[in-house]
Amino acid sequence: MENKSQIANCKSQIPEMANKDYYNTLGIKKDAKADDIKKAYRRLARKHHPDVNPNDKAAEEKFKEVQEAYDVLSDEKKRKVFDRFGYYNDNLDPDSPFSAGASSGANAYDFSGFNFEPGGSGGSSSFRDIFSDLFGGARQPPPEPPRPLPKKGKDIEIPLALSFEESFTGLTTNITVNRSEQCSRCQGAGDTGGPVVVCPTCKGTGQVLRTGGRLQFSQTCPDCEGTGRRRQPCSLCSGKGVTPKTEQVKIRIPAGVDTGSRVRIPKKGQGGRLGAEPGDLFILTNVGKHRYFTRKGDNIYVTVPITVAEAALGTKIEVPTVEGRAQLKIPSSTVSGQKFRLSGRGFPSLRNPSLRGDQFVEVQIALPRVISEETKEILRQFEKANPENPRKAMGLE
Ligand SMILES: [Zn+2]
Ligand SMILES: [Zn+2]
Repeated sequence: MENKSQIANCKSQIPEMANKDYYNTLGIKKDAKADDIKKAYRRLARKHHPDVNPNDKAAEEKFKEVQEAYDVLSDEKKRKVFDRFGYYNDNLDPDSPFSAGASSGANAYDFSGFNFEPGGSGGSSSFRDIFSDLFGGARQPPPEPPRPLPKKGKDIEIPLALSFEESFTGLTTNITVNRSEQCSRCQGAGDTGGPVVVCPTCKGTGQVLRTGGRLQFSQTCPDCEGTGRRRQPCSLCSGKGVTPKTEQVKIRIPAGVDTGSRVRIPKKGQGGRLGAEPGDLFILTNVGKHRYFTRKGDNIYVTVPITVAEAALGTKIEVPTVEGRAQLKIPSSTVSGQKFRLSGRGFPSLRNPSLRGDQFVEVQIALPRVISEETKEILRQFEKANPENPRKAMGLE
């Protein structure tokens, strides 16, 4: 079977048909059945396939020869011609006593359309495509790149600083968002059905490097789903399926947001693909501090100074609220640190805007700066009139 002279013989581009014994090439007997011919052919084709023997000219020639022998012997009519004349030519009629045109030397086999050079431009793959059915599961053709599916766009998150007052009233404003939209040329497919090419994003490896902090890690290539192959990328979006778009987006921040609230602006995230919805835009709020109000939940806290006399005698004072001044009644004998509630004067609830928190006012008794002799004399008299020791409860005199 390993007939060296035949291999050498085949080096010439035009096989010398008359000298060939196709039965010998396939290693079968003259009376071999169709099944035997097929089996022999499959075995030899696998053995000498150029993909199995890269850069092996001899194997390549052998493969051509096996292919040629099989083509003739597997075809009943051609085999008859070969059996009768000892070679095959399309112009020969096995049932005719004459061999019309047999001497023309026409080459029954023309492999010039194939490029057997391993790695030759497209040759190897077109070759594989044509013969891939011979190899069953042993040698799969390269996988067809996956067809893109409709895909919802990713969400975008943008931080937004706002004042304490703005967080109380809510805010409507325009912001600039760098987002994307479904590509108008490929409708988000990333290609327009062109030829399959090596994925330019990952150079065919199916993996891309991502940098996370100081670490680099590889990730499945998002543009070819890790197959390393894709259809020629769309020229408008470079295969991304979306095109960048800078857009002024009107946003409405509801009253009651706090630091860390996420406000959703529907469909203003990254563009979707193949008709799928865009992602959402999320505004992440960061509320500034107030000079004297603080917030806990939906309640507002403020500390207000009062005088000794106001605390002792009781009065009505004005206190600040986020919405302006409010009246607060200070009863007589109020102590420092006492808290008063202004019901419903806190933040509106984000979950239920008809509900509101409260405002708590803590009073601190502020001592007057005593300068005049007259005031000092009044205080001495005050002490005589109120002789009780405030430290008595601690057992002190
Ligand atoms: Zn890729
Ligand atoms: Zn496109």
